[in-house]
Amino acid sequence: MSGPLLAVENVTARYGAVLALDDVSLHVEAGEIVTLIGANGAGKSTLLMTICGDPPARAGRIRFDGADITGQPTHRIMRGGIAQAPEGRRIFGRMSVLENLLIGAQAVAVDPGPELARVFALFPRLEERQAQRAGTLSGGEQQMLAIGRALMSRPRLLLLDEPSLGLAPLVVKGIFAAIRRLNAESGLSVLLVEQNAQAALRLAHRGYTLQTGRIVLAGTGRELLARPEVREAYLGG
Ligand code: ATP
Repeated sequence: MSGPLLAVENVTARYGAVLALDDVSLHVEAGEIVTLIGANGAGKSTLLMTICGDPPARAGRIRFDGADITGQPTHRIMRGGIAQAPEGRRIFGRMSVLENLLIGAQAVAVDPGPELARVFALFPRLEERQAQRAGTLSGGEQQMLAIGRALMSRPRLLLLDEPSLGLAPLVVKGIFAAIRRLNAESGLSVLLVEQNAQAALRLAHRGYTLQTGRIVLAGTGRELLARPEVREAYLGG
């Protein structure tokens, strides 16, 4: 393969009259962690959803592994190697931890055994609690489950929507360490959306800032952390 793993090229997305993404271009190389930071309503979640096909890109192109996936149905995009852990986690609260994980593998019809072993190695807590109802897990454990479920489809690109949301600092540290480990050990590429800009930019190789649907800045995590605009808008000055 030549070129980036994911390329978003001049993409526009809207909800009725609301322009949520306006001519957005970004890319993720194989083996990279890339973060997208921005305020509430900037369009971060929409970008991840548009990569997954819903809402669809109204203009522009999305390429994955060199193939044009613009306009493809979500299930086909997932089968092609993209998985998402959505904002708010969306786990099935009345089902067990194990059942939630197995659902992640169903979408792509892979043998769940090896993936399950990998997820349990990354998050031993999920193995201990595999028979427990997912709705009774702590917030941090539910986030582990959302990531674990996404990993079950053996993705090459993991989309993470605000994994730190509502979690205590120590728990966030654990989740971010798991993302770093996944990336370092298996070369998994990650596109991470975060409001916790400091932690996300430290973790990421590169980042982008999104403001009312437009990419405003791009750079390495370190470069963005040093930018006065970033410090002022996202790091409390
Ligand atoms: P947050 O951090 O609050 O999730 P975000 O950066 O992820 O914010 P989006 O959720 O992508 O932002 O929203 C981008 C814009 O699109 C906002 O103006 C939002 O109000 C609008 N929007 C999002 N979802 C819908 C929807 N289903 N219908 C109409 N407008 C929507």
